[in-house]
Amino acid sequence: MFDTHCHLNFSRFSSRVQDVIDEAQKVGVTEIVVPGTDIKTSIKALELAKQYEHVYAAVGIHPHHVYECNVNRVTCNVQDIIKEIESMLSHPKVVAVGEVGLDRHYYQETKYADYTVSQEFIDLQKKLLTVQIKLAIQYKKSLVLHNREAKKEFLEVMTGNWNESLAYKTVFHCCEADQDLLSFAKEHQIFIGVDGDVTYDLKKQEFVKTIPLELLVLETDSPYLLPEPLRSQKKFPNEPKNIPLIAQCISEIKGVSINQLIDTATANAKRLFL
Ligand SMILES: [Zn+2]
Ligand SMILES: [Zn+2]
Repeated sequence: MFDTHCHLNFSRFSSRVQDVIDEAQKVGVTEIVVPGTDIKTSIKALELAKQYEHVYAAVGIHPHHVYECNVNRVTCNVQDIIKEIESMLSHPKVVAVGEVGLDRHYYQETKYADYTVSQEFIDLQKKLLTVQIKLAIQYKKSLVLHNREAKKEFLEVMTGNWNESLAYKTVFHCCEADQDLLSFAKEHQIFIGVDGDVTYDLKKQEFVKTIPLELLVLETDSPYLLPEPLRSQKKFPNEPKNIPLIAQCISEIKGVSINQLIDTATANAKRLFL
């Protein structure tokens, strides 16, 4: 099995990475993609990818962390950070640019004081997204996309910057339950990432019924989105070893065998990243 989105690079896992990988392998989750969210976590993702054979890195600036550049354009220079991301892209274990995208969510728990989502901030997110899509095309890397509450502008940026080389090489990670996003994905051969929230979110369950099996990939988004029944048992944090719980739930919703679901999702993930 393949966990297509797992933040082993976050401090939450710092002392336990080896154990987390071992436990995942015990249940058959072998390949893991670790996406960066800023410079520091992108560097860490690459370090992990160099260290562990079946771990791969994505590098990029997450829209939430574009905030730093928005509040302080002197200490956080867009050209400088893009140069840093670009410098990592020639490494063979960096399989994707990501996670990048747009995010209009008002985060209450954030390291940024007085966090607000202004149009100026969104415009800077769009600029960073555009530049990073171009990097993926230029360096022939895959693309891990994050969109939260910004569908209209997100699809506009995607339409304006789409390149045929991104077909089957792009994923809408933790895709919102939205038919416009799914239609766009089907038109452009973009994979849809499904997470542990499908085990308790009824809207996601309805959405999953409509995702073609050939476009579905599994992800945990660890340490977030712990699936049931672990969520009720408060067994935080989420880990890649929980991919089978997500697979089981989706196979029941879609009325296919768990083996068929896992085989197809794993083949899809390999096509996406490897
Ligand atoms: Zn995300
Ligand atoms: Zn993520």
